[in-house]
Amino acid sequence: MRKAVLALFVILLAACQPVSLATMPPGPALPTDAPPVEETTSLPAATPVTLQPPANTEPAGAERPQYHISAELDDSQRNLLVVEEIHFTNPSGSALESLPLAVEANRYPGAFEWLGASAEQRKVTLESLDANQLLVRLSPALAAGAAMTLRLEFRLQLPPILTGQPHIFGYTSRQINLADWYPILPQFNPVDGWLLHPPGAVGEHGVYPAANFDIELHLPPVQPALVVAASAAGDPIPGGYRYHVEGARNFVWSASQEYIVSTQQAGDTTVASYAYPATELAARAALDYTVQAVNYFSKQFGAPPRGSLSIVQADFPDGMEYDGLFFLSDRFYYGFDGSPRSYLALIAVHETAHQWWYARVGSDQALEPWLDEALCTYSELLFYESLNPELAGWWWGFRVEPYAPDGSLTATIYDFSQFTPYRNRVYLRGALFLGALRQAMGDGAFFDALRAYLERFDGQIATRSDFLDVFQQATSVDLSTLIVDAFKP
Ligand SMILES: [Zn+2]
Repeated sequence: MRKAVLALFVILLAACQPVSLATMPPGPALPTDAPPVEETTSLPAATPVTLQPPANTEPAGAERPQYHISAELDDSQRNLLVVEEIHFTNPSGSALESLPLAVEANRYPGAFEWLGASAEQRKVTLESLDANQLLVRLSPALAAGAAMTLRLEFRLQLPPILTGQPHIFGYTSRQINLADWYPILPQFNPVDGWLLHPPGAVGEHGVYPAANFDIELHLPPVQPALVVAASAAGDPIPGGYRYHVEGARNFVWSASQEYIVSTQQAGDTTVASYAYPATELAARAALDYTVQAVNYFSKQFGAPPRGSLSIVQADFPDGMEYDGLFFLSDRFYYGFDGSPRSYLALIAVHETAHQWWYARVGSDQALEPWLDEALCTYSELLFYESLNPELAGWWWGFRVEPYAPDGSLTATIYDFSQFTPYRNRVYLRGALFLGALRQAMGDGAFFDALRAYLERFDGQIATRSDFLDVFQQATSVDLSTLIVDAFKP
């Protein structure tokens, strides 16, 4: 029986698979033990805006977008009034008449209400708002290389997170999750323009240029008080918190009146667990594994991106990474058997790895999803090896081999309508490819290449060719046969 349950979970095992269901009407609530992943499979894949992987162009640190966001949560904890300022430089090389912004909240019917926009010495009007894409018209246009501060006002009405559905943004009876909750300035590159991808049926589609954030959260005076988990450590202000974070992919927060907080140091990083009562042992284990993973990845790859990392027990399936914070499904807590051979441990380690392969080195998750997911999946193996070589054997047999993954890593998120084939190709075939590179290169060159890749593309959006160039340069072994095999058209 236990084996059968485990087998079912193996089939469903995912990590970081968000699903965007803007156009989907709320369905009936699923029983809490319903399979989480396959619920998303009937959604049609959206058409991608761009089909070529992005060229690698990054603003220097000084030119990073700067976000100043002040958000006030109302007494019902369902509505948020937000004033957002984005200071940015026009990177497009020509006058900018229309600025696109990613508004993921608008995928949920009624969740995003536009209240207005303004800028100094410039008229700003709403040109269009369709699915996750907002266009604002700038009059006069913003000259190439010129900077401006765009001020947006909007209201969010949080959508319900339905039981068993892999929605992240919204509320349940005990938590609110604010992920991708503010309009985001997309990545720009000269070849493809603004990288603002529509959601697919599977996988993440956001491309996040590193930015600086100053955030103020104003919270209602409820009792017991709301406990806030966020992408950075906050300073208390009257009625809320203030946050400052630099070079982050995004700023995400979650709040609950029920969270129990425990913290532990991993070197200079404070890891904090935000978990519900009655799952203390599992929460402790999630914290322990995350701390061990931060320590191990710091030693093996390089320093983590920032001084804090929050683990949030989530009322939705699977896990999801953000900068400085990840969600870990409630199911993993209740299903925890005390062993590292558990989803709680496995997915905590996977999401922790995203602090390197997502937060430090970004990538185009829509068009090159293998790049961060294969690295994080393979990082699970590296972590288990470091604990105990026997666990490495378990990991292959549990995570990869039953699925005999194959196919080309050129796949984008738009090539799949169901999660399991997507995971098999992108995560698992990707992990096989990395294992093959390691075997061909040897451990020394392989780990040197990982560190060089991290160092060279830190704070940027890396591409497949960036990755492959670094690996080929790190060894005298010709990797071309492996590469051609993995990326055959
Ligand atoms: Zn992942």
